[in-house]
Amino acid sequence: MTEQDIAGYEDGNALAGPLGELFAVDLTSAVGQCVGCGLAGPVATLRVYRHAPGLVARCPGCDDVVLRLVRGPAEAWLDLRGTVSLRIPLTP
Ligand SMILES: [Zn+2]
Repeated sequence: MTEQDIAGYEDGNALAGPLGELFAVDLTSAVGQCVGCGLAGPVATLRVYRHAPGLVARCPGCDDVVLRLVRGPAEAWLDLRGTVSLRIPLTP
């Protein structure tokens, strides 16, 4: 059993499908900065919990909520209030 299995979370790659449904670029490689501790890193390194309504992604540095995504049948809610910024790589 991995540390992730015991703690009940997955890495940020679990967001690839749900975010890929909303955005034309792969946001798992985007670099986000945490409001709580200032840690910057790829979305893929976040800790993603599926036990809440929707997906909750927490900072690996301070465990604050960085991103929440709830999908309903006709709309999606993306809460980024725990993120200072997202630096999204674009292909030229
Ligand atoms: Zn943090």
